Amino acid sequence: MTTPAPPRVDGAARALLVLWDIDGTLLLRASVAHVRAVWAALAEVHGVDGEGFKGPGVAGMTDAQISRAILAGMGVEAAAIDEHAARVVERVGQLYAPDDLRDHVSPGLDGLLAELHDRDDVIQSLVTGNYEAVARRKLDAAGLGRWFDPRWGGGFGSDDEDRDRLPAIARARAAAALSPDREPWDRDRTVIVGDTPRDIACARADRVHVVAVTTGSHDRHDLADADAVVDDAGELREALLGLAAPAPDAIRKDRS
Ligand SMILES: [Mg+2]
Repeated sequence: MTTPAPPRVDGAARALLVLWDIDGTLLLRASVAHVRAVWAALAEVHGVDGEGFKGPGVAGMTDAQISRAILAGMGVEAAAIDEHAARVVERVGQLYAPDDLRDHVSPGLDGLLAELHDRDDVIQSLVTGNYEAVARRKLDAAGLGRWFDPRWGGGFGSDDEDRDRLPAIARARAAAALSPDREPWDRDRTVIVGDTPRDIACARADRVHVVAVTTGSHDRHDLADADAVVDDAGELREALLGLAAPAPDAIRKDRS
């Protein structure tokens, strides 16, 4: 595996900031060890036994929301959930031990990430409900960590329980990577890529672009509120390149 060059920061200010979701978007059915770590941490910190418990529909929820929903469903008081929230984040991060996840990369996405990484007009980062430690380890286990330089930051379930607040966090961090006192990344140069209505909602809450993929647990009907809905890596590439460099692409297409 070659190590890519560090991100080009000079002149990147007008680049398109692509904020990737992980589960159902970059990776498919890659949550077994993650779920196990959450349950183990909740059992250890709160003394709950989750056997037989039916969890809520968690796709698109942050890890902190999922933990809260599980604990509340088992009768744990909100005050106790709040009091131990940081400990749960810490223990999930310590307990999470994924297997090799390279077979779980959504088809074509590794190549698309590599192509986008090489463009001067694209910066790639993350908006995911995963706690940050889980997100980075999960991507490393899938061979995708190399495309997500931590210097560009991201927005994670360990930053805020409410996914709607994560895009703004990610925009602020990406801008701060250019210079500490910089305004958050421009909304019109930012796009969320995700697989659930909750990804779309967080993009709308921050007034940034959103492209939805049907590779996760939702179909086109569920995702109709996105700016674009795509079924595969090829369509996703077209949608993102159209946002990265809209005018020249449109001109070239018109003339071909
Ligand atoms: Mg997802």
